[in-house]
Amino acid sequence: MKQPTQLRYPLARRSLLRGVIGVTAATVLPSWQSYAGEALAGTGERIILGDADLLALQNSISGSVILPTSSNYHDARKLWNPAIDHLPALIVKCESLEDVQAALQFGQSHNVLTAIRCGGHNYGGTGMADGGMTVDISAINRVEVDASKKVALVSGGSLLQNLDRATVPLGLATTAGVVSHTGVGGLATGLGQGRMARKLGYTIDNIRGLQVMTLDGKIQRANAEENSDLYWGVRGGGGNFGIVTEFELQLHEIDPNVMTFSYTYPIAKAADVIKTLFELGEHVPNEMSLGGGISTNGEGKTTASISATHIGSPESANKIIGKRLDHLGEPIGTRFGGIDYLRLQGIADGTLLSTRSVYSKSGFFNHVDDRIAESIAEYGSKHTMPGTQIRISQQGGLGNTVARYATAFPHRDTIFQCTVDVNWTDPKDAPKYQKFTNDAWDELWPLTTGGFYINTAIDPSEIEVRRAYAENYERLVELKNKYDPSNFLKLNVNIKPSRAT
Ligand SMILES: Cc1cc2nc3c(=O)[nH]c(=O)nc-3n(C[C@H](O)[C@H](O)[C@H](O)COP(=O)(O)OP(=O)(O)OC[C@H]3O[C@@H](n4cnc5c(N)ncnc54)[C@H](O)[C@@H]3O)c2cc1C
Repeated sequence: MKQPTQLRYPLARRSLLRGVIGVTAATVLPSWQSYAGEALAGTGERIILGDADLLALQNSISGSVILPTSSNYHDARKLWNPAIDHLPALIVKCESLEDVQAALQFGQSHNVLTAIRCGGHNYGGTGMADGGMTVDISAINRVEVDASKKVALVSGGSLLQNLDRATVPLGLATTAGVVSHTGVGGLATGLGQGRMARKLGYTIDNIRGLQVMTLDGKIQRANAEENSDLYWGVRGGGGNFGIVTEFELQLHEIDPNVMTFSYTYPIAKAADVIKTLFELGEHVPNEMSLGGGISTNGEGKTTASISATHIGSPESANKIIGKRLDHLGEPIGTRFGGIDYLRLQGIADGTLLSTRSVYSKSGFFNHVDDRIAESIAEYGSKHTMPGTQIRISQQGGLGNTVARYATAFPHRDTIFQCTVDVNWTDPKDAPKYQKFTNDAWDELWPLTTGGFYINTAIDPSEIEVRRAYAENYERLVELKNKYDPSNFLKLNVNIKPSRAT
C-alpha cells in the first residue's frame, strides 16, 4: 500500500524568511508594517501580501497579526507535535468573531492558503498553514453551562479543559478526549473519543446544535431543524465547511468518582493478553472502556498490557472483571484505584506542547478473533524499538447505536481501534520512526476494516479520505460543493469539492 507522505514543505521556506527579516531590521516601523510578505496561495503559487493590506487587516481586528518578523512569531506557530515545523506567512490571533470574519475575508480575497487553529493538537499540523495564513481562534474559549437544561455552550476555540472544568464540578459531563489541552474545535468536528464515549456516545453524538461561520462570514445556526445538512456534515466532517464558533453540547449527570486499572505482563504472554482483551470486550458494560496492547518503553523493554477506565467504583470494576484475568498469571506491573474524573482528565497531559515528536497510523476492527490477536502479538513481539507501541482501544457502546448515515462518521460497528504510535526526541530519528510505523501498518491494516478516525490521520491520500467516510463521502462532497466550492478550507482531512477551482 502506498503510504502518505508527511511533512512536506511547499516553499523554500528559509529563504523566504531571510529576506523579510533583513527588510525589518532596517526600519523603525513595527515589523509587520514593513513586511513585504511572500505567502503561499491556496492554489500553490507564491503571492505577495502588501504592507497596506496587512496594515488594513491589523486595523480591522481587535486581535493581532503576527508575521515572521514579530518577536512572538515562533511561539505563536508552535504546535503540540514538535515534528511539525510549519512557517506561516501570517498568524491572525483572533479575539472576537469579528476578527475571524475579517481573517476569513482577507484569506479569501487574497487567495491565501488558510488554516484554522484551535488547540493545535492535530498530529499532521493542519492547524498551522505552512507558507499561508493561520486563523488562531484559541482565545475565543468561553464555556457557558445551563445546569438545569444540562447544556454547555462552548466557543469554537475552547480546550477540553475549559469544558470539563466548567461542567464536572457541577456533577455534569459530556464525552471529551483524554488530554485536557486538546481543542474542542478539532476534536468535536472530527468525532470525539474519550473515557465517557462508550457510556455517553462520541462527542459528535452529544452536539445538539452548532453556530458555524460559513465562508461568507455569516454565522449560521445548524441543528436538526435549521441547516440540517451542515449539522450533519460538521459532526464528523472536520473543518471542511466553515468555522464552528459555538458547540451546544448535551451534558449528563455523572458521579465523578471513577476508577482505572492497568495490568502489565511479560511480552511472552502477548497473544494471551490480547485474546483476553478481546474476550473482555464482549463482556464489559458501557461504563467500562478497555485498552491495552504492546509497548516498548524508552529503555527498550517490551511488555503487553490490559487497562481500563471504569465509570464506577473499584468494587464494581472488580465484580465485572472477576477472575477473567487470572489465567494470565501474576502481572509484572499493576495499577488499580479510584480517582476523581476531573483529575483523571488531566492526568495524561504532560506539557502543553509535547517535547516528543509523534507519528501514528490507526484503523478499526468490527470483529476480533484469535487470528487477529496472534498477528498483533507476533508482529509486536518481533518489532520493538524504544518509544513505540501498538495500542488497542475499545470502541462501541452508545456510539454504535447511532446509524452509519446519521452523522458524517460512518464507522458505527467498530468494536476496537488499533493504533501504531511512535514518539522520539531527536529530529534525526524522524525517518526511522515513521518507517517503523508505516511498515507496521502495512502488516496490520489488512486486519482492520480499512476505515479510520480522521483525527488520527496524517496527510491522508484521497483514497484514504474516501475510506474514512465510506458511504457518506458523496454526500459530504455535495455539502462541500455548497459551502466551500473553491476548497478554501483545504488544510484538514480534505473533502474535495467536485467543482474545485
Ligand atoms: C495528545 C493528544 C491526545 C488526543 N486525544 C484524543 C482523544 O482522547 N480523543 C479524540 O477524539 N481525539 C484525540 N486526539 C486527536 C484530536 O482530536 C485531533 O488532534 C484534533 O485535530 C485536535 O483538535 P485541535 O483543535 O486541538 O487541533 P488544531 O490543530 O488546532 O485543529 C485541527 C483541525 O481542526 C479543525 N478545527 C479546529 N477548530 C475548529 C473549529 N472551531 N471549527 C471548525 N474546524 C475546526 C481545523 O480543520 C484544523 O485544521 C488527541 C490528540 C493529541 C495530540
